[in-house]
Amino acid sequence: MADFSIFGNNLCGGSGIEELMDDLGNALAHGGPDTKMLGGGQPGSIPEMNAIWRKRMEEIMAEPGAMEAMVGNYDPPKGSPKFISALAHLFSQELGWDVTEENIAITAGGQTAFFFLFNALAGRTRDGRRKKILLPLVPEYIGYSNQSVGEDFFRAVKPKIEKIGAHQFKYRVDFDALEIDDEVAAICVSRPTNPTGNVLTDNEMAKLSALAEQHGIPLIIDNAYGAPFPNIFFADANPIWNANTILTMSLSKIGLPGTRTGIVVAPKEIAAAVASMSAIVGLANSNVGQAIMEPLVRSGEVLKLSNEVVKPFYVEKSQKAQQWVRESFDDTLPYRVHLSEGALFLWLWFEDMPVSSKELYERLKQRGVLVVPGNYFFFGLEDESWKHRSECIRMTFTMEESVVKDGIAIIAEEVAKIYAEG
Ligand code: PLP
Repeated sequence: MADFSIFGNNLCGGSGIEELMDDLGNALAHGGPDTKMLGGGQPGSIPEMNAIWRKRMEEIMAEPGAMEAMVGNYDPPKGSPKFISALAHLFSQELGWDVTEENIAITAGGQTAFFFLFNALAGRTRDGRRKKILLPLVPEYIGYSNQSVGEDFFRAVKPKIEKIGAHQFKYRVDFDALEIDDEVAAICVSRPTNPTGNVLTDNEMAKLSALAEQHGIPLIIDNAYGAPFPNIFFADANPIWNANTILTMSLSKIGLPGTRTGIVVAPKEIAAAVASMSAIVGLANSNVGQAIMEPLVRSGEVLKLSNEVVKPFYVEKSQKAQQWVRESFDDTLPYRVHLSEGALFLWLWFEDMPVSSKELYERLKQRGVLVVPGNYFFFGLEDESWKHRSECIRMTFTMEESVVKDGIAIIAEEVAKIYAEG
């Protein structure tokens, strides 16, 4: 065993989520053809979008020098100047944001952007303070946990739970419980949220933004699923950016996860800091996603594709999955589905379930259905006794219809058995 540093101990020794992802991967590899994978975060394969990527690759191959530039050149650490200028133009013209090229930096996926941002802003400071990232509402994206190179830096707050009708609910930020002291370095939310499909309302965002500004700290908004692209955003709400916001975006959920392209839109000094970190950690980012996407951003076609292809694809997936839940679950059971306002998941809550979500996960795995137990998404929260954190599961609805439909039927059966066993 290597004699690891603190960084090494934190990042090299595995994590709960690595174990789970391994477990899911192995179950899938050895589970046979009937395995129903509702556990991952893989975006759906959209034929119209795949045709666009193919066409763009053909154009790059046909244009003299374009292929050679794409695979043969290092970009500046900040990203491709052409791609960045197309983005700045889109954000300022289409959304009215006061954004120039200097506000933008490219990273190797949104995930890397978070590693850089969290570690640059939070953690131990020279004067000995321990700066925190405040998550005003958990459950929140599991990919953030374990990203600290030092001590854990998340402070999370329980949401208010609004029950809607017999079988739905929505999380709301509990502003009375938000405590912003000198330790808080930034506030962070994903919107739409992975794992719940929640979209924080415009009003909640305005309040968070005002609080951040009042305390002189940035509001980080993870817009991996949001507008203007990929626009997997079903709620009646608007994207926001202002000079106190760090907004991250990604080319993954529009269909290019393999190109590892993230976008940070931030105050100039933060965009420059992200470029510095890219240079140190990886010299430069991959050119491929930027080269594929640049003309689509420049012409605005990316907006049309997001609105007319990507969004309707996921709206239909979400609605069908909810329909199958209504059809499969016994109406007398206390199951609830979080309002599906965006992203790729349904978040199911089984109030007072006699077993934990981890046990439900194991039982479903035995039956060939893979989901993610919800407890992983409540990191940063001290209250271990809050039973809600072990009463939820996340299921992805992007797979083939038969997989999602049959998977939901099995979840419904197993949950009914669990309540009946008491
Ligand atoms: N943020 C959220 C909320 C996500 O769900 C994901 C991926 O699933 C990411 C960020 C990171 O995505 P990528 O690194 O592929 O851009």
